Amino acid sequence: MAISTRVCLNHPNVQATAACKQCAKPLCGSCVTRNVDGSFCGQACYDQYRQFKDRRVVQPSGSGLLGKLVTWAIYLAVGLGIVWAAAEYGEIAIAQKIMRVIGIGY
Ligand SMILES: [Zn+2]
Ligand SMILES: [Zn+2]
Repeated sequence: MAISTRVCLNHPNVQATAACKQCAKPLCGSCVTRNVDGSFCGQACYDQYRQFKDRRVVQPSGSGLLGKLVTWAIYLAVGLGIVWAAAEYGEIAIAQKIMRVIGIGY
């Protein structure tokens, strides 16, 4: 028995007019759930679709103002580390020069 056209999953004698965007099940007009995102077989599939979509939209963390602050904090820590290391080895002149460049010395 060959089926030339796809029929609804729940109604074998009704032609499918849509397919679920999430699980691709064939659906007839009375079984399909339509919304702004497309056609779905039910709320469960729509929730899955939304979860997947929302996850893809999420921006990587560390961007924006917080990311810049973190970057500056790392630069500052490295700079202070160099100053501390120079001072520790008795190179006060170098330490003062670096401090003047960074803007914390006078
Ligand atoms: Zn589905
Ligand atoms: Zn149906």
